[in-house]
Amino acid sequence: MLKKYDPYENVIEVLSEAMNIGNINKHMFEIIKNPQRALTVYLPVKMDDGSVQVFEGYRVQHSNIRGPFKGGIRYHQDCDLNEVKALATWMTLKCAVVDIAYGGAKGGIQVDPRTLSEAELCRLTRRYTYAIEPIIGTNKDIPAPDVNTNSKIMAWILDTYSMLQGKPCPGVVTGKPLELGGSKGREAATGRGVVISTELILKKDNKATEGQKVAIQGVGNVGGNAARILHEKGAKIVAISDVSAAIYAEDGLDIPSIMDYLKDPQSLLVHYDAQGITHITNEELLQCNCDILIPAALENQINEEVAKKLQCSYIVEGANGPTTTAGDKILEARGITLVPDILANSGGVIVSYFEWVQNIQVLTWDEDKVNEMLENQMSKAFIDVVAESEKSACSLRMAAYIVAIRKVIHAQDVKGIFP
Ligand code: NAD
Repeated sequence: MLKKYDPYENVIEVLSEAMNIGNINKHMFEIIKNPQRALTVYLPVKMDDGSVQVFEGYRVQHSNIRGPFKGGIRYHQDCDLNEVKALATWMTLKCAVVDIAYGGAKGGIQVDPRTLSEAELCRLTRRYTYAIEPIIGTNKDIPAPDVNTNSKIMAWILDTYSMLQGKPCPGVVTGKPLELGGSKGREAATGRGVVISTELILKKDNKATEGQKVAIQGVGNVGGNAARILHEKGAKIVAISDVSAAIYAEDGLDIPSIMDYLKDPQSLLVHYDAQGITHITNEELLQCNCDILIPAALENQINEEVAKKLQCSYIVEGANGPTTTAGDKILEARGITLVPDILANSGGVIVSYFEWVQNIQVLTWDEDKVNEMLENQMSKAFIDVVAESEKSACSLRMAAYIVAIRKVIHAQDVKGIFP
């Protein structure tokens, strides 16, 4: 029987193994393992029918050793403290591996936002912001979008926080609308970064992006933008999914038409129809005949059982934590190359960093500059990770962790332990 999946246990297991492989002294393990602060908040919200519902929310600040805490906010019915602790830990590692001066944090509310009206969602977001206000701030902890949150929700957080401070504070969130100080290129940055990672791993193996068959699980911010950009670059997107269903077309899906259909937030792939497409299950999507699989939905999708059945040659992790430690072992044994989440989906936080730098300097950069800087930052990190994987004869996941952990420990060593 498969062990019950716990994302926090999963990340700690990988941390420990990476420290062994990288011969990293474990004197800092307990520090890196535990978040610096984990806050649980209870949020009473007046519903449209006059009743009051109390929602549970979290903000976990894993580390600010290398810079202010940084990480997105997730709205999901299955969100819990251990998931947010794992996501916060991944943020610390992600910012370290791509070398931006941030630590790691994450937030979440246990709610299915599809069951709320827009007015209820706004009140919930503002109440959550009020509850975490003492611990966030431009130089303290900077939230951003994640699953089921977007630039509109960031605008509500920014406004609530600014009201409480009595002044505009654009740098308190990233991924906000352009009109409020958002960065050009931020909306698509995570998906663009997934494409950059895909191109880098293919180039390493002397392969072109054009003509590659790609399956993408999740067609939200990350998966949708990755699909659009890969399609523009001549890749063949053979399968894509959302929470309702997956669709498949052997000769490639018409991505612009699907994106157009999904512009309406109520639209689901289960109702999408076009010539040559078949509706398949999410499991079938993961196992379909493709060269590259991009999981871009949630954690725990590629476990031991699924890993045995995959037909792809590459996995590029758009989502955080889509592969379990047992899944990883099978993939390695089968020779499937995996570009790990903390590297592959770092485009979002890199451009968030650029957004924050623009806010602090009161500057606006054009999109070409942002995209070029993103590509440079990711390419440098990719080279470091590949070099470490060759040196330590390990997977790209282990190598990325080793590179990241060394940077965090080095910064901690330089500072010493307070007091
Ligand atoms: P999103 O809410 O925009 O999209 C999520 C997508 O996954 C939707 O298409 C949804 O229908 C689909 N989905 C949800 N549950 C599913 C299920 N059980 N099976 C299949 N599909 C399902 O979220 P997002 O921002 O695109 O985030 C996706 C992943 O990428 C998450 O793991 C997130 O932590 C990670 N990530 C996001 C960002 C970012 O900038 N938004 C940055 C780094 C990593």
